[in-house]
Amino acid sequence: ATPTSIMVGVGRAAELGVLFRKGEALQALQGVQVIAFDKTGTLTAGRPELTDLSVADGFDEAEVLALVAAVEGQSEHPVARALVEAASARGLTIARPEAFDSVPGKGVAGVVAGRRIAVGADRYMADLGHDVAVFAEAAARLGDEGKTPLYAAIDGRLAAVIAVADPIKPTTAAAIQAMHGLGLKVAMITGDNRRTAEAVARRLGIDEVHAEVMPDGKVAAVNTLKAGGRRVAFVGDGVNDAPALASADVGMAVGGGADVAVESADVVLTGGDLRGAVSAIGLSRATMSNIR
Ligand code: ADP
Ligand code: MG
Repeated sequence: ATPTSIMVGVGRAAELGVLFRKGEALQALQGVQVIAFDKTGTLTAGRPELTDLSVADGFDEAEVLALVAAVEGQSEHPVARALVEAASARGLTIARPEAFDSVPGKGVAGVVAGRRIAVGADRYMADLGHDVAVFAEAAARLGDEGKTPLYAAIDGRLAAVIAVADPIKPTTAAAIQAMHGLGLKVAMITGDNRRTAEAVARRLGIDEVHAEVMPDGKVAAVNTLKAGGRRVAFVGDGVNDAPALASADVGMAVGGGADVAVESADVVLTGGDLRGAVSAIGLSRATMSNIR
């Protein structure tokens, strides 16, 4: 590849909202056989909303939500914002916790007005010794609807199952379809619940799902996809995604995401439209065949 022809390709891509941080990416993209996407904030808008709240016997819905929002007020996770906004919308008073702890990939805990609260995924409840079986049916239904089931425990007792839903970006389905048209296998790598991830994947026609991946497990998931010498591109937006973006053959960051994600990526999709990744691959193939 001559430097001039690469420069032409890079300029054309910029018009499509695709920013090449590294010129080599234009060459590397043509050989990509698998494209893997992070879910939250990449395939979806990254703005989850509370959709369901069901309390266990002896708990009051408004009180549970207020306590949950008090601890989540200290977290920066998109799920946290959804829960705080839901409590505010209901006019609930959100107290300041006396203690707070965050467990990446699992949930948050704290003390609010002397009461101990924990909020998070089923695996977090399991760590804390809570059996979520009473909510199994509800959680399965919520997951199948593409919603993320979370649990709240108060003073050592399981208190509620809560669901948040994050809408799929309007352009995502078309992007996945076009990826298939280019002959690529499409995968998802997410920390979210398996049922939720599979429901979203089904709606989008995604071929392979790696769910319930811990924040430090995304690199291993990318390496699994690389098995047999397959060339893998990974698209993500979060702090958690940075190592996977760096270890993929081509890392593509979603603009507006974490700075460290952009810094670890070869390509940036500035507007967050995943069709930009399709354009980038098409452009790479066209540019490289022109050079040859
Ligand atoms: P993702 O952003 O893909 O969901 P994370 O690793 O950030 O991946 O989180 C994995 C799961 O842990 C979330 O889907 C959620 O169930 C739970 N979790 C993480 N942070 C929080 C939080 N602040 N409040 C409640 N649950 C959380
Ligand atoms: Mg994300």
